[in-house]
Amino acid sequence: MKPIVGIPSAFQEPQSKFGGGASVVPQSYLRALEIAGGVPLLMPITDQESTLQALYSRLDGLLLAGGVDIDPVRFGESPHPELGKVDAQRDWVELTLTPWALADGLPVLGICRGIQTLSVAAGGSLWQDIATQVPGALQHTYYPDYPYSRLSHSVQLEPDSRLADFLGDLELEVNSLHHQAVKDAGTGLWVTARSPDGIIEAIEGDGEAWVVGVQWHPEWLLDDDPRMRHLFEAFVIACQAGRDGKKV
Ligand code: MN
Repeated sequence: MKPIVGIPSAFQEPQSKFGGGASVVPQSYLRALEIAGGVPLLMPITDQESTLQALYSRLDGLLLAGGVDIDPVRFGESPHPELGKVDAQRDWVELTLTPWALADGLPVLGICRGIQTLSVAAGGSLWQDIATQVPGALQHTYYPDYPYSRLSHSVQLEPDSRLADFLGDLELEVNSLHHQAVKDAGTGLWVTARSPDGIIEAIEGDGEAWVVGVQWHPEWLLDDDPRMRHLFEAFVIACQAGRDGKKV
């Protein structure tokens, strides 16, 4: 049986005054997981912990997707003037599930907002707006008017990181569609990639569990860079191994 990977949804506002909103996950993540051999399970926006528990108990891995900003109250800060939209319902779902996964050693892959979710779930914190808070930083906000696959800056990987192992390189060019970034990685996580301006672009768990967060969007680079497929494949292999009761 293929491993099942839960992906928490974003809340989409009602499209008319008669609507009630929707739970949505961008198709790009589903495609990337399926190509890698995983089965995506869309997890709804809900305020019911028992719903999350029932779904969580069936998961072999957790994928934290991109999206809007995390409410800074979640890491003990007040809103910066450049803070973007937040999604309190999604924050609650993801910040309920992620600590469970970290405590249980379930494989977790965080992408863009997802690396930030991972960090905040582990007690870390974020730059709420790179451009105004980090002097000398490169531009990281290549959206919405650029192709999502645009290679916008390099990242340097730590030689003994998992990422360096399954990407097979210590430096790569990545896309960049974010205005926030991880400031403090959080307990049990270490920084495994930075852009040339020092912005954190990847973090990983420092234990045996397969926990990886990347600030770029590998799901948009699958067709251009085979190394990005290796990232999803390594994640799915870890999910499968956990399902089979093995370690990777
Ligand atoms: Mn970037």
